[in-house]
Amino acid sequence: MIDDYLAYRDVDREFYERYLRGFLPRRLFDAHMHVHRAEHVPPLTDELRARNWAGAVSHPAYPVEDAEADYAKLFPESDILRLQFGTIYREADFEACNDYNAEKADRERVWALAVLDPAWSGEALRERLVRGRFSGVKPYWSMVPGKVEKDVTLDEMIAPEQLEVLDDLGLMATIHVPGPERIRDPHTRRVLRDWCARYPRATFVVAHLGRAYAFPFARDTFADLAGIEGLLFDCSAFLNPNGFELAFRTLGPRRILWGTDFPVLSRMRGYRVWEGETYWNVTSADYPWNTDREPPEVEARYTYFIYEALKGMREGAERSGLTTEDLEAVFFGNAHQLLAPQTDCS
Ligand SMILES: [Zn+2]
Repeated sequence: MIDDYLAYRDVDREFYERYLRGFLPRRLFDAHMHVHRAEHVPPLTDELRARNWAGAVSHPAYPVEDAEADYAKLFPESDILRLQFGTIYREADFEACNDYNAEKADRERVWALAVLDPAWSGEALRERLVRGRFSGVKPYWSMVPGKVEKDVTLDEMIAPEQLEVLDDLGLMATIHVPGPERIRDPHTRRVLRDWCARYPRATFVVAHLGRAYAFPFARDTFADLAGIEGLLFDCSAFLNPNGFELAFRTLGPRRILWGTDFPVLSRMRGYRVWEGETYWNVTSADYPWNTDREPPEVEARYTYFIYEALKGMREGAERSGLTTEDLEAVFFGNAHQLLAPQTDCS
């Protein structure tokens, strides 16, 4: 059923022709995507489902083969390099999943980050990163034990001695900012400012443009973030054209990396709605949380979320006057420049 639901349809082809074909450069670098095998993740309990709705979407498996099939299906004219990491549950066998990701990274077309346990010593982290030839780490709030998301602070997600190691090895961290205030939390921005100043050889990439999906979060923070030297962003799972426009105008196209957040954005059809400080996903995907549905003839017109995200990005790019070179930087060059020099290390 899921295959049928996700099979390429006329509506997708039309959308691609109309909005994406003239927009996408030939070379793409996906700087944010997750792969895992079924044995890496725990059974999907109600508790896990409640903790993270996206977990239901990526369950039970999204191996490399599926990701590559999605690229071929969705971007038939593009050559795609990627930075990949595991799906994140504390209850997962995240170390086996890290091994799996490392194994697939040839550091010519595929790079990997290690899902990070904040309890690892600096030495353990160093050994882990070097052995797996990882390009850095993927911390996540759920890896902080004994806390719910709203109570986790960014500085609990990576320990100080781990930051020293990232700096020493010149590696990166892709950071999902925690809490209901997202990037608007002043403590979070203080921590980012502090890390960028204190660990200048490490690179910090704020995922999902700080989760500023609803415009007020972008309006209240992007100008401040622009002043943090060296801080980068990925725009995965971001769909809001107004947010994109502001990001391109204030943060600029040299600091933003494109990413898909597959499998979440390849496995849902629909679109996002914003209202004030909130947003929700309207989708036809068959998940327990998806209770507010539109009539079948309306849902039949839905395309993939990743296509809607790219359409939003295009609108923002056009309104902010991005050039072809700017777009090539966002879609490819920024990530490639960051990761490719690591090809020759160790
Ligand atoms: Zn993600």
